[in-house]
Amino acid sequence: MSKPTIRTRFAPSPTGLMHLGNVRAALMNYLFAQQTDGSFIVRIEDTDQTRNFDPGAKQILTDLAWLQLSFDEGPGKPAAHKDYGSYFQSERTALYNEKLQFLQKNESIYRCFCTQEELEKKRLRQIALKQPPRYDRACLKLSPSEIAAKVAAQTPFIWRMKLNQQQSVTITDLGHGPTTFDFNNFSDFPLTRQDGSVTFMFANCVDDIAMEITHIFRGNDHLSNTAGQVALYMAFEIPLPVYWHLPMICNIEGKKLSKRDFGFSLNDLRNSGFLPEAICNYLAIIGGGSFINEIMTQKELIQSVHFDTIHSSSFIRYDVEKLRWINHKWIAQYPHEELTALARPFLEKQFPAIANMDDATLTPLIQTIKTDIHTLDEIDNEIAFYFTPPTVTHADLEAIIPNEHLTKILALLKQNIEPMTDITLCLNNLKAAAKEQQLPMKLLFSALRLILTGKPNGIGIQELIQMLGIKETKKRFNLLTSNG
Ligand code: GLU
Repeated sequence: MSKPTIRTRFAPSPTGLMHLGNVRAALMNYLFAQQTDGSFIVRIEDTDQTRNFDPGAKQILTDLAWLQLSFDEGPGKPAAHKDYGSYFQSERTALYNEKLQFLQKNESIYRCFCTQEELEKKRLRQIALKQPPRYDRACLKLSPSEIAAKVAAQTPFIWRMKLNQQQSVTITDLGHGPTTFDFNNFSDFPLTRQDGSVTFMFANCVDDIAMEITHIFRGNDHLSNTAGQVALYMAFEIPLPVYWHLPMICNIEGKKLSKRDFGFSLNDLRNSGFLPEAICNYLAIIGGGSFINEIMTQKELIQSVHFDTIHSSSFIRYDVEKLRWINHKWIAQYPHEELTALARPFLEKQFPAIANMDDATLTPLIQTIKTDIHTLDEIDNEIAFYFTPPTVTHADLEAIIPNEHLTKILALLKQNIEPMTDITLCLNNLKAAAKEQQLPMKLLFSALRLILTGKPNGIGIQELIQMLGIKETKKRFNLLTSNG
């Protein structure tokens, strides 16, 4: 089997819940791999055990499955090549040690014995002097004997990258165009922590190399990390991958999206009844490009999202209203039975009786109100009338029906609803009588709808009576008299 040329990856850290930025990064890597017949890889960056919030990245993997972003290689799948796996960084320590030794031998890294307190003092001093806070390379100046003495005394240390400050390098970035980093502006970054574990900067890059990643799509907040990682690629003498630093997602005020913004976390969106298709659809189209039809399935997104027309700005605005609109469109076009299954948990919370209602009854009910909702958590409110008869009074009717028509309309309804045995026949009679008496049909039906549901607009009358049943319809109509 020949190796696919393009390899993209999503590399989440299980230190928190998936948020929109992660989802967008995963989606873009996925779409690009699909478009180019490449491989999409998931790698769990769990080197920081102290901050590991989601052991085994179970939630992340569940989220990816829910979003229908299936991966070719990753947790739970056999490695496509012996050097690619494991897809958990916590199981790749031997590789990091080997690469550390390599860098040590070619003198690309050095030991730093500075304590946290010393580093913090230096940092504050630099800030006070209005200098960019950067490691001052104190430990690079240590003599071999000084280093040997500290090592013999078991002084804790970390490994730092020795950047060539005379050098600059240009990367290919699909979003920003050619981007040059002048190493003079960067700090000698740590590759390890004092407990011996490796840093994100190091492990992330070592793995991208080992897993032969060709394209790295990640948030713009990683742009400055890229400089250091490029230095690592150079130290390993490996050609650079193609980068695309995705614009940061900002709230409507232009500030970086945070936990405080609704819809930042994928959980919020799922719990409010956003569909995975709608979330991916929205995130795929907000980066730019013009689309004939904005509502697209995953297959259509793969065909339509062109990576050369994506925004090069450093942020894009997250507009919940647009996402709600896309969700609304998705709900309207969703396969009927599947929509019922997704809606059930939202309905059961409010109306436990739904658990005993079969799909044959529930699906038509949902179908009649689905175009009135934007998210599934609005569904219980729309369907409430079915379970609880509304309390409608004459005053409510007077508010929507002009006085000159009201008495006639009520009389006509009474004449036809009370003896109803067949819905179509009853409605035909009503229509004919309304015509004869020159009563507007629209008003007649608004009045009836208001009596039956509590709202003058919405569901078609025929469907409504069918759904409630003739008996319940009559009962509700008669309630009007008792409500006064
Ligand atoms: N673990 C990093 C993160 O979650 C990965 C960044 C990258 O894609 O390189 O931000």
